[in-house]
Order: sequence, then C-alpha cells, then structure tokens
Amino acid sequence: MNTITKRILVVGGGTAGWLTAALLAKKHGQSIEICLVESSDIPTVGVGEGTWPSMRTTLQKIGISESEFITQCSATFKQASKFVDWISSSSEEYFHPFTQPAGYGKFDIAPYWESLLSGSSSAPTFCDSVTFQSHMCKMGLAPKNITHKEYETVANYGYHLDAGKFAQLLKSHSISKLNVKHVVANITQVNQHPDGSISNLETDSSGILSAEFFIDCTGFSSLLLGQTLGVPFIDKSDILFNDTALAMQVPYLDENDPIACHTISTAQSAGWIWDIGLQHRRGVGYVFSSKHQSLEDAQQILKNYVGAQAEDLPIRKIEFKTGHRECFWRHNCVAVGLSSGFLEPLEASALMLVETSANFIADQLPLTKAEMKPMEKRFNQVFTAKWRGVIDFLKLHYVLSERQEPYWQDNKDTTSIPDSLQEMLMLWQHRAPSEYDFLQSYEAFNAASYQYVLYGAGFKPDFSLLAHTLTHGDRAKKQFDVTAKAAQQMALRLPKHRELINQIKQQGFAKL
Ligand SMILES: Cc1cc2nc3c(=O)[nH]c(=O)nc-3n(C[C@H](O)[C@H](O)[C@H](O)COP(=O)(O)OP(=O)(O)OC[C@H]3O[C@@H](n4cnc5c(N)ncnc54)[C@H](O)[C@@H]3O)c2cc1C
Repeated sequence: MNTITKRILVVGGGTAGWLTAALLAKKHGQSIEICLVESSDIPTVGVGEGTWPSMRTTLQKIGISESEFITQCSATFKQASKFVDWISSSSEEYFHPFTQPAGYGKFDIAPYWESLLSGSSSAPTFCDSVTFQSHMCKMGLAPKNITHKEYETVANYGYHLDAGKFAQLLKSHSISKLNVKHVVANITQVNQHPDGSISNLETDSSGILSAEFFIDCTGFSSLLLGQTLGVPFIDKSDILFNDTALAMQVPYLDENDPIACHTISTAQSAGWIWDIGLQHRRGVGYVFSSKHQSLEDAQQILKNYVGAQAEDLPIRKIEFKTGHRECFWRHNCVAVGLSSGFLEPLEASALMLVETSANFIADQLPLTKAEMKPMEKRFNQVFTAKWRGVIDFLKLHYVLSERQEPYWQDNKDTTSIPDSLQEMLMLWQHRAPSEYDFLQSYEAFNAASYQYVLYGAGFKPDFSLLAHTLTHGDRAKKQFDVTAKAAQQMALRLPKHRELINQIKQQGFAKL
C-alpha cells in the first residue's frame, strides 16, 4: 500500500531538532502532524554560538522577530571570521567576510588585485581591496542601524548567540505559534517494519509513538540512523585532526566593553581558539588535537589566552569524533545535526547544514511511501557533496599555514589532504577559484570564500599566463575605488556594534 505521510516524528530537542520541527511545521503543519520527542535526562550539547547569514532567512521563515531573537538569545551580529596567527605565529591576520568580493558573479577581480596592487609593500590585502566589510569589522561597526527593518542588511551578516537560550526560544515558538506537539520521554526501543524502515518508538513514559517519517536529531548518539539502521560512521580524523574542545564563558569586565562583530579565531600550537562576543559575555574555546597536545597544556593555553579572569572560571570539556555518516537518509529516516556528523567548529558550518537539511526535507517532503526512495537518493547525493565541500574548505585553512609545530606540519602532509583539494590548489596556481570549481548549489562554500581564505592566508598565484584575458582593468580599478569610499561612508552611517545592540534592547527594529 502506498502510505500517505500524516505524521512526522522529530527525535531530539537540541537546536537541530527544534529548527527542523519549526521549518516542517511552518510548511506542512496544516495537514501533517509534527511531533518532537526529547529526553529530559540526556542534555543537549549546548555549544554552537556562530551562525551563517542563512539564519536570517530561517528565522524570518518560521516567524521569529529579529528584535525578540536578539534580546532573548543575548545575540549579536557576525559579519566575518578573523584568522589570527594562522599564517605564522607572528600576529598576522586575515578576514573571511560574509559580503562577496566586488564584481563577484560578473567578472573576476582577483587577477587585477594581484597585478595592480600586490607588487607594492603598502598594498591593501585582497579582502580590504574588494569589500568594505573587513574595514567595518576593524572599526567595530554594526552591519546596519536601528532605522532599518528587521532582517534588512547594509552589510551581509549572521549571528553570535547563546545556544541554550536559542534552543529555548525555538522550543517555545514551535509549541505556541507553530503547533508542534511536544513529548518529553526516553526512547526505550526502536521498532522496524520487515523492510527495515522504522515503524514506531517505544518510550518510558509516553507509550508508543508512531509516524510515517522520522527525523533523527539525537546528537552524537545517532539513535535512529546510526544505532538502529546501522549506517556506518565515516571517520575523517585523518584529514581534520581536532577532537577535543575546552569551552569557557568569560564575562565582560565593563558592561560597555566593545563587542567584536566577527568571530576571532586564533591559531595555537595544536589547534585554534574561538572568541565570540555575545551581549553580556564572550564564549571562548580551544579546539585542539589530543594526539598532538596533552589536556593540561591545552588548558594552560586557553587560560593564557583569557588572562587573569580565567582563574575563577570553569572549563567545560567536549570530546567529539570527526566525520559523518556514510549516508544521511535511509528508508523513512533522515539524520539532521550532530546525528549526521560533525567536523569541527571552524567556519561554523554545523547549523548551516542543519538549516539546509531541514529546508530540503520541508521543501521536498515525501508525501507518499513511493516517493521515499527517490528522495533518499537525491538527499544523499546533495549532502555527500556538501560534506565533502566543507571538509575541503576547512582543510584549506590548515594547508596554507607556514607554522612549524608538528600539528601544523602534519596538516600539510599530502597524505592528509583530500585529492579534490590538492587538485584545486594546483589549478589555483594560475587562476582564481571560480564557479567552475564547484557544483554550485550543492556546495556549502563558494569561490568567494575560497578567494578570501586563499589570498588572505598568503597563497601567491601567478596569473601571468592569463594576462591576455585580463580586459577589465578599468572596471577593476573603479571597484577598488568604490570599495575604499564605501568603507569611509560606512564609518559615518553606521553605529558601533554595542550601541546598536543597546538600541535594539530598548526599542527594537521596525517590523517587516
Ligand atoms: C565544540 C563545539 C563547537 C561548536 N560550534 C558551533 C558553531 O559555532 N556554529 C555551529 O553552527 N555549530 C557549532 N557546533 C555544532 C552545534 O553545537 C550543533 O550542530 C547544534 O548544537 C545541534 O546539536 P543537535 O541538536 O544535533 O544535538 P544535541 O544538542 O546533542 O541534541 C540532542 C537531543 O537528542 C535528545 N536525545 C538523545 N538521545 C535520546 C533518546 N534516547 N531519547 C530521547 N531523546 C534523546 C537529547 O535529549 C537532546 O535533546 C559546535 C559543536 C561543538 C561540539
């Protein structure tokens, strides 16, 4: 019989579970029951404080007001990641901003930057030449002002947020506004149909929960996809070495201290430290490879970074396995969030993968059992490509480093670099990363991101073989001038980041 999808069960109440339930309920809640079951005994991972700009669309879609979100989640704006000491340990830094390089999609500005500017020692960096956003970050400016409407932008932005408060907001909004049914219970048994698909879940306190479609958001335990359906975990620790994070919450010394409008990522001897400015505190954490450094040394490195304040603050240790499931959808079950895999916090791609997975499922929801198989195939194709792309991009950051410690040297060992990335690095000796390098809609990171990291980290291309194709010199020069002027104008038009946050808390943005 071709069963019709009438009920979807989301298992797990972390950020992945609630985001997925909310997006599904918004689209299908009129005719399909969306139920979320979570355990009160198994805590959520509770970290994950950086998002992509895609979170603006997600929040808007599920009907959460931006002012409410910023106020309730202690959220701030994120415009970029700043990488400090990644090239060597002598305080060099570069930005990966969310705004694309000038002319992106129309013509490629990178070879002109190289030929017009890079010869001189005082030449601006690639990023400073092609976008005003790195200048804004350095000036501590917000990406808009209080007269803009909710979710409207002057400069592209995502958020920094308190993960615990965010999950609470998503939960109360999903239950009260989107009609998501909520069950608190432990799953004691997962039952399957003879064909292997999941039929129902037995719980300790809410009886048997049945559905036609199951979303596994059970975090690292991957209860449905991994444990029940037996989909293997593909270990990627031979490429990305980090496996432990030490996290600290550091209050501001003064409530008016400036808030960075970008994630600060500082390389260390066996990993890197994230530093994320929320409204009332910073989230600071050291993510490192336990094969390259002892826990004691790693703790000391984090404490040295934080300074005197660190003595009174607790450190939370989180261990993780780097990799992802062999496939993400099997039969009538799809894994979203940590249950599908985790690489490491660099470039904050985990919540973006949650958003894209949930959107795919909501937009392409199999309405009958017959549709399940083709959707499974499509989803697995798309997300296999996405995970591969994320791995390549994260690895790029390490491969470009000139640091000498064993951790960094091991990262440059070609046996640890995926063939796909090695091939692109070879091609980029003579041409800039372009749309041709990526299967566009399947890729998590586009050519713009690769250009920022590649040239920011000091990769020296030689575009001379392309000289006969460089016919946009005047246009490029104009773009460089426009960027420089735009950066000056932003300083006059936009408030400091904390000033805007205070205004939002007092009066909020105009509603869209
Ligand atoms: C150190 C670190 C830093 C990170 N930084 C970022 C970042 O900056 N940006 C970003 O995008 N992401 C980041 N992430 C990832 C991010 O934290 C996760 O993607 C996000 O929190 C989603 O987690 P989750 O909902 O999949 O899992 P969890 O938060 O672990 O939730 C799992 C849920 O499943 C439930 N559950 C489990 N087993 C059962 C059972 N048997 N019965 C009933 N319920 C069950 C639990 O109760 C819980 O509700 C980071 C992760 C780590 C480890």
